[in-house]
Amino acid sequence: MKVVLKVIREEQRALFIIFGGTGDLAQRKLYPALFNLYKRGYLKKNFAVIGTARRPWTNDYYRDVIKCSIDGMFDSQAQATDFASHFYYHSHNVNDKQHYEELKALADKLDEKYDLGGNRIYYLAMSPRFFGTISQYLRSEGLVTERGYGRVIIEKPFGRDYQSAKELNDEISRYFDEDSTFRIDHYLGKEMVQNIMALRFDNGIWSALWNKEHIKNIQVTLSEALGVEERGGYYETAGALRDMVQNHILQIVSLLTMDRPKSASEKDIRQAKVETFKALKVYSPEEVYQNFVRGQYGEGEEQVAYREEAMIDPDSMTETFVAGKLEVQNKSMAGVPVYIRTGKRMTAKMTRVDIVFKNEAPLFGGGIEPENVLTINIDPDLGLDLRLNMKKVGQEFATKKTKIGYRLSKEQVAKIPEAYERLILNVLQGNAVNFTHWDELKYSWRFLDAIRNAWDEQELPVDFFPNYACGTMGPQASAELLEKNGDHWIY
Ligand code: NAD
Repeated sequence: MKVVLKVIREEQRALFIIFGGTGDLAQRKLYPALFNLYKRGYLKKNFAVIGTARRPWTNDYYRDVIKCSIDGMFDSQAQATDFASHFYYHSHNVNDKQHYEELKALADKLDEKYDLGGNRIYYLAMSPRFFGTISQYLRSEGLVTERGYGRVIIEKPFGRDYQSAKELNDEISRYFDEDSTFRIDHYLGKEMVQNIMALRFDNGIWSALWNKEHIKNIQVTLSEALGVEERGGYYETAGALRDMVQNHILQIVSLLTMDRPKSASEKDIRQAKVETFKALKVYSPEEVYQNFVRGQYGEGEEQVAYREEAMIDPDSMTETFVAGKLEVQNKSMAGVPVYIRTGKRMTAKMTRVDIVFKNEAPLFGGGIEPENVLTINIDPDLGLDLRLNMKKVGQEFATKKTKIGYRLSKEQVAKIPEAYERLILNVLQGNAVNFTHWDELKYSWRFLDAIRNAWDEQELPVDFFPNYACGTMGPQASAELLEKNGDHWIY
């Protein structure tokens, strides 16, 4: 008899209050994610959304905006209209205390109308400088109910160094405890990122080999083909190190290098991750210069150089590329070089991990690169490749590199929820495993500050940049970083 396993889709009850409800993030990501949850039956009748921002929109206008943001996703106009009917707009300046009274009255009314049990999710889709003020007023003006849960979702960037992140966290934690605070890193919502733990801990072959005895090095690449686009103002003050390494890259590194958690519980997984961040070796300035490389893109055939982009200083010293060698000093990985690389205007948009295994004594030579490599393709292809040495077909006995690969099918990819959809459902279910704990952030900033400070102290001539051309994998120094250890980038 065939057993059919059915996914239980439990309907969730909640009121969402989205601060920054007219913004880009809300329209491009949050409303489509909520619609998918509605379409899949996680949200049905008992939910409502209040969008707040300064603009004086009406409910009708707001609902038209909602319909536009889910254009092409709905099955019928009636479905789109029903979904949008759950949305309410409240014009609100987050600094104005009186507005919270009106917001509370609306929230209480919707709670009753939709029977929401007092459950509220506050999505702070705004500049972080407002996070403290909003959290404070949510508490002081009684928006957080006694009856249900009150969870706050916070977008990146969370601080720009350890000190500012701590101040922000101290402010928010006065009003929301750690268990109610969900810090988004949308990379943790990606299918193949979530797959890393399954691969490592549920397969004997990888559990046995995933350690310092067998891994030669680990490589993480997050490359973008685009330049800075219209984000110049923000990017000039951030750079690739803060924009990509502190969050997405370090999160992926932690999943790749963490010791085995005691169990699959949220608590044990988080604990294992926190220990990994703690085990990241913090470099001295001298070690930073040896182990980290920065770059900035020059012009390409059709693209302008970073320094010629809108809102960029013509002598800008902001890095658009970072490569580095990290050390995670824990039981599994101490001594294994973890190479990371990210940048703009590189060869292609891609996220991948290469695990290079030691193969010190191949009997038949094993070719020029005898190492076995497991590649985890995270974006845009989703799947795995394994590089093996096999016998060349024919009379002669010689080996050659052979790649075996697995790709998720189009049908499987079509079923994958978008990262925001998955993460919002996690918040509804109170599952924080795919969110960044404050302790992870604390140690990641400690690690990052050491690099940033060493770079800021280093006097570089203005013509140090640009040092890589558009459409390449970064400056030559990035290749040399590996070569000095006898390694090379697999891609
Ligand atoms: P945005 O500028 O498009 O939207 C900001 C929103 O805040 C608008 O709705 C605006 O009306 C509102 N706002 C500003 N000042 C206000 C005030 N005093 N009172 C009430 N409302 C006010 O920004 P965004 O791109 O949507 O980004 C929002 C946050 O999400 C930022 O922290 C950003 O770094 C982060 N983020 C955005 C994206 C993205 O794809 N857009 C991705 C990751 C993180």
